[in-house]
Amino acid sequence: MPDKRTILNGNGVGDYVAIGNSFLYTPSLSTPIYKIEESDVEEEYKRFDEAIKKSIEEIEELQKHVNNNIKNILSTHILMLQDRVITRQVKEEVKEKLFNIEHIYDTIISGYLKKLSSINNKMLSERSSDIVDIKSRLIRNLIQPNSGDYSQVPENCIVIAKTLTPSDVLKFNAIGVAGFIIESGGYTSHAAILAKAFGITTIFNITDISSKIKNGRKIIVDCRSSIVIMNPSEKDIKNYTKLTEDIKQHKEQSIIDAKEPAITTDNIEIKINANIDIPEETESLLKHGIDSIGLYRTEFLYIFSGEDIATVLPSEEYQFKVYKSIASKMKGKIIIRTLDIGGDKISPALGFDFKEDNPFLGWRAIRFCLSNRQLFKDQIKALLRASHYGNIEIMIPMISTLDEFIETKKFINDVKEELRKENQEFNDNIKIGALIETPSAATIIDLIVKEADFISIGSNDLVQYMMACDRTNEKLTYLYNPIDISVLRMLKRIIETANQNNKPVTLCGEMGGVILYTPVLLGLGIRELSMSVTSIAKVKNLIRTISIKDCEKLVNEMLEKCDNNHSKSILKSFLTKANVKKYRGIN
Ligand code: PEP
Ligand code: MG
Repeated sequence: MPDKRTILNGNGVGDYVAIGNSFLYTPSLSTPIYKIEESDVEEEYKRFDEAIKKSIEEIEELQKHVNNNIKNILSTHILMLQDRVITRQVKEEVKEKLFNIEHIYDTIISGYLKKLSSINNKMLSERSSDIVDIKSRLIRNLIQPNSGDYSQVPENCIVIAKTLTPSDVLKFNAIGVAGFIIESGGYTSHAAILAKAFGITTIFNITDISSKIKNGRKIIVDCRSSIVIMNPSEKDIKNYTKLTEDIKQHKEQSIIDAKEPAITTDNIEIKINANIDIPEETESLLKHGIDSIGLYRTEFLYIFSGEDIATVLPSEEYQFKVYKSIASKMKGKIIIRTLDIGGDKISPALGFDFKEDNPFLGWRAIRFCLSNRQLFKDQIKALLRASHYGNIEIMIPMISTLDEFIETKKFINDVKEELRKENQEFNDNIKIGALIETPSAATIIDLIVKEADFISIGSNDLVQYMMACDRTNEKLTYLYNPIDISVLRMLKRIIETANQNNKPVTLCGEMGGVILYTPVLLGLGIRELSMSVTSIAKVKNLIRTISIKDCEKLVNEMLEKCDNNHSKSILKSFLTKANVKKYRGIN
């Protein structure tokens, strides 16, 4: 009997639809097991020795960029990799049992870990996480980075996963998949942000789908209606094939719409910049006539390299080439954000255990950079050197105190001094801005504007931290509300303070690319936004149909009533009245 047609509801990202075959993705790094011949034993030893050598080289490279504490931890990793007792035991067992070396190594180390966990000793259990790190690194180097996980992924499939990391999305984008169905997550999770930027049809928050569908089954993902159709009928396929064609035409039209300026009906121009996550996206910006970048998330350089997961940190020279190449292509300003690692963005290249109890409240962004100064210096040097070739501005993420911002500026000045001594050219007047995304920074915005050359609002995090609600937790979607009255009041204060101090203020979080919120932001005084290139045409088209006067009236009513339901309903009717250009079949 054929499987039944079933519709499941979730939350869609973007406007697209996709038809494809399901691919169930289970990301754990599984260690292959296979029998070998006696004649293969020497080859296995050779692979093992090479993997140890490669792992040690990776760690040594990493040690050049981190602080002394971490350097010491990494030195113990090297010692453990060189442990003769373990190497001898692994080799003996391979010869005796005739299984592949990664399987034998995995079994032996897992045995040690089990023994450690049964001993009630805090110091030893802390050692366990180091051993897990070393084991993963060595096994990864034995089976070659991620080949086991991704090599089976067919092109144009719909990937179904319980959860996806940003590096998974980068990898799947390189392979060329048609869509994602993710059981967890929110639209501001970095996996969703990347998927949207790459135009991959994505739905998240679909409970338990991986246990409801088999591999290789036809499936439709519809982000406009936020549904997934499993085992679609012939009629579904016909309708959605037609819709896919319409969307293709819509994409062509949206390129035209993105090129023209966004001017309100009362003649105020709103400047729209683009967010990018990987350097290759600049090509798409140029195609859409976008000449300035409001946010480049550089951490993805530390997560992904070429077509694969990054296993070593990007050097100063490598980063310089990337930033220079972007700077020389764009005519307008390019706001490059310094490394914002942590939270849901983990870099395997950093190599050490990054697991924290509360990662979004943890060792993230500028907190991490200020305590890993060599690594930070590599990036600042690269940015300053590239500033000679274009209009680069530097943005500092996750500022929580005024001291952090002042300390960072001082650090940048010290790096400038070093460059001067090296006779390197750079823009001495480079602008340094603060990304306002913590409630503490927002509260002291009057102090920060005096130190910063510009302000950008990171609404993704600002909402998460103000509402104390994890942006990636699908169970908290009801709380994650960028127009909650508390957030509105905070946004108003930030924007007004920046405007009063004549400091440029922009917003680069996801809310900037959601048309429901455009009138609110304009009404609050925002005149510059930055968003994913896939949102630009839609937001510009809306701006062309509304007036600042009406937006201000709308926001004042929201601020006076203090009722989130009322806000939502007047916003929806405002949008219905706005004569937004519609495309056939597109919401
Ligand atoms: C934000 O927090 O709004 C932001 C722009 O940064 P990210 O989404 O990378 O945290
Ligand atoms: Mg942020």
